[in-house]
Amino acid sequence: MTIEDPVEYEFAGINQMQVHEAGGFTFADGLRGTLRQDPDVILVGEIRDAETARIAMQAALTGHLVLSSLHAVDAVSALHRFVDMGMEPFLVASAINGIMGQRLLRRICDSCKEPATPNPAQAHMVGRVLKERIGQWMVGAGCTQCNHTGYLGRIGVYELLRVNDEIRNLITEGATHAALHEAAARDGMRTMQAEGFALINAGITTFDEVQRTVYASLDDMVFDEAAEVGLSEIEASVPQRTHVNSTDQVGATS
Ligand SMILES: [Zn+2]
Repeated sequence: MTIEDPVEYEFAGINQMQVHEAGGFTFADGLRGTLRQDPDVILVGEIRDAETARIAMQAALTGHLVLSSLHAVDAVSALHRFVDMGMEPFLVASAINGIMGQRLLRRICDSCKEPATPNPAQAHMVGRVLKERIGQWMVGAGCTQCNHTGYLGRIGVYELLRVNDEIRNLITEGATHAALHEAAARDGMRTMQAEGFALINAGITTFDEVQRTVYASLDDMVFDEAAEVGLSEIEASVPQRTHVNSTDQVGATS
């Protein structure tokens, strides 16, 4: 069953509900109504408030697979968003199984794509994060196809945070963003920043675009040579919206 705002695509075999806030039908109302029908899988279009978050957590803890999205800077920040909404850390730790962070980057226009010379500081940073040689960077010169922006179309970058036992303990202890991020990196999480850097190296997008979309405080790192730039450094300072899907799953289906 789904609770959406609005229902954008209709699927056969899935019961879909549309939120109508003006008419007094909220995500929380929909979720409560859904639970009475004992569904196996529930999709809550977006978690925007504490009430919806709490019911979604309870649903996850009582054997439902709950899929949802919320806005946060990155996957780790989504955990903190739940705590900020008033959820107890132990509840967040036990209800969430995984979080997928995603952002869209603009692709360089194929019609006016041409080789670019990497700025040394940028190349250094990309090389250090990816631990691989710098590829052929490209840039869009601008043409009528791309309305002289140099970009046409978009491509997604993702990061998957798996909530393992170590991360569960860290959440319960109220660990910092950095500590959680390090634990996720140890568990193999490839960050949206690293995915973006790989797309630069493949000539699909530009450094400026990755900086604008995934990571705003790059200037600090690039010009501070003393700062150790690692996968753990993607920091909660990007003011743009991120779409983070949280998959709450506990045990088998009901
Ligand atoms: Zn173009």
